[in-house]
Amino acid sequence: MATNTTPITPKLVDKTGKSHIIEIMNVNKSFGDLHVLKDITFYIRNNEFVTLLGPSGCGKSTTLRILAGFETADSGLVEFEGADLLSVPAHKRHINTVFQRYALFPHLNVFDNIAFGLYLKKRPADEVKKRVEEALETVGLSGYEKRYVDQLSGGQMQRVAIARAIINRPRVLLLDEPLGALDLKMRKEMQIELKDMQRELGITFVYVTHDQEEALTMSDTIIVMKDGVIQQIGTPTDIYNEPKNAYVADFIGESNIIPGTMNKDFEVTFRGKSFECVDPRFPEAVPGEEEAVDVVIRPEDIYVKSEGPDYVNGTVTSIVFKGVHYEIRVEDDTQMEWMIHDVDPVKEGQRIGMTFDPDDIHIMRKSCFSPDCQKTNSDADDSGVSEESIEG
Ligand code: ADP
Ligand code: MG
Repeated sequence: MATNTTPITPKLVDKTGKSHIIEIMNVNKSFGDLHVLKDITFYIRNNEFVTLLGPSGCGKSTTLRILAGFETADSGLVEFEGADLLSVPAHKRHINTVFQRYALFPHLNVFDNIAFGLYLKKRPADEVKKRVEEALETVGLSGYEKRYVDQLSGGQMQRVAIARAIINRPRVLLLDEPLGALDLKMRKEMQIELKDMQRELGITFVYVTHDQEEALTMSDTIIVMKDGVIQQIGTPTDIYNEPKNAYVADFIGESNIIPGTMNKDFEVTFRGKSFECVDPRFPEAVPGEEEAVDVVIRPEDIYVKSEGPDYVNGTVTSIVFKGVHYEIRVEDDTQMEWMIHDVDPVKEGQRIGMTFDPDDIHIMRKSCFSPDCQKTNSDADDSGVSEESIEG
């Protein structure tokens, strides 16, 4: 297998020119009649924190298991530093996995749990001791060598599992919902720590979660999946601010998704009003012809005013205090419901106008996930995401 000093020309186009440790090309996987991965293509850059994000059953774990070598692909290519990975047996890959269930040995202490892989390799005792100590320090558990697994909290068990996974110095660490069993406070702490660990170790992390907040907090790159199809790949800010379709916009946070039309650059019409925006028309738009689009506006990006001719006007239907902001629901005069987050309260039944900065009006292509799409979303294989629009 090539080493990281060999320059490898990436097969998949990447405008940053950074090197790719893994490239996955047109991978398909079915279990019986169930087509679980549908022509999955993406790359993982060296030393990146990449997150596969999507609802339960969308194929995240299957993707990881193919990378780990626990599962085969039906078709497609997977390369590790430019060389075929699929023919390499799991134990020979420079890849290790951390699972949600820690799978620690209850009859062994922390030291022996972590050292297990080195014992199998018959490493000398002083080397084992040194490497276990290093791994424990990395995960913040120095001094816990003699503890037994049942004397540890969930968070500590997960740290031991991570220490065990990094002891063999893998190039890539796969983490499948590793914080899923922890309570919210511990999960938040571990999110920050895992990100720090990844930087400190200088290795690539491929992380799986269904929790969009977790993905936004930790990742350099997020890959949003639904029903075995990649919906969008981008940085957390790309994905949050420039969702490629209504599915991503909705999954990644609360949004108002509004059917709209454009017939010129930098102007969009919805709910009977026209607004300035920062997006030109899509390249495929026919000049002079009106084009249907989806508009996404985040609840925190709406200004509440007194009603007026230039605003989307409506009536407040509910207001709930959420600690920092109020969650305000408004029915506009065309009977569409809006969600607003605002630090200033309004009254139920109050008439208001809503307006927006051009910057905060995001234009998306119509897709089968659009609010006014005729197809049901479960029919939706064709997400309206084209090849070139996947990259953020
Ligand atoms: P995720 O990790 O995103 O929740 P998975 O990759 O585990 O999703 O599963 C995707 C789909 O494939 C699910 O419908 C799941 O039931 C199915 N599946 C996964 N593994 C198997 C298997 N070994 N046999 C049959 N079906 C499977
Ligand atoms: Mg899973």
